[in-house]
Amino acid sequence: MSVLLNITDLESGYGLVKVLTGVNLSIESGKSVVLLGVNGAGKTTLLKTIVGLIKATKGKIEFESEDITKLKPNKRIEKGISYMSELAIFPNLTIEENLELGGYFKDKVENKKRMELMFDHFPDLRKFRNKMAGSLSGGQRKMLGVAKAFMSNPKIVIMDEPSSGLSPKFVKKVIEVIKSFHDEYKTTMFIAEQNVSFLDIAEEVYVLDMGNITFRGSVSDLKSNEKLREAYFGVA
Ligand code: ATP
Repeated sequence: MSVLLNITDLESGYGLVKVLTGVNLSIESGKSVVLLGVNGAGKTTLLKTIVGLIKATKGKIEFESEDITKLKPNKRIEKGISYMSELAIFPNLTIEENLELGGYFKDKVENKKRMELMFDHFPDLRKFRNKMAGSLSGGQRKMLGVAKAFMSNPKIVIMDEPSSGLSPKFVKKVIEVIKSFHDEYKTTMFIAEQNVSFLDIAEEVYVLDMGNITFRGSVSDLKSNEKLREAYFGVA
């Protein structure tokens, strides 16, 4: 399999605060990869640096073997990188407007078709298409977030804590939806989470701890690592 996203010695942060201290990772095309990390580990910082919302102060980000480290966020989107933030949607826009934004860089006709496709996946969103996204339930908002992230028919979807703010029942639903999208469209997924339920859809796992990658392997490798098992599953 070919490497889609390759990150070497990446450093970034906020002003004088260095958060990432030399991150290395590589994601193969078509894989579903979960980035585990506790609160404050630097997950959001890493994702935002990959999509260009935070500047890398050192290191390299390559997408399809092209150096994109200095590329503007919109150029990265055009290359096929889609980002679903923790909030995922704009509550003061309608559902349709949110989806239009997701496909902003695509052709209008293609966008309309894609929107109908997303509505086929999520009939509730079709029903409420002209309503404000803020009127949706937490679970529905995440579904809209997933649909919005897939509007551009991306090569990779980068998700920041899709479980945040959801009850366990909805977490399960969101996982099912992400898995079905991954299976159907073969889209590469990179999902930052602290909820271990997401390991169900992980073909590979990275652990981020205090701004650095401390583990890379399969879910079973992770579970057989005593320290990590204790940290993430609470069992020795
Ligand atoms: P969470 O699950 O809580 O979102 P995270 O793993 O995504 O955690 P980050 O949000 O990337 O972690 O935060 C990493 C570190 O950077 C934390 O110590 C945090 O306090 C710090 N940090 C985050 N945002 C800023 C900011 N705007 N200015 C300064 N420091 C920040």
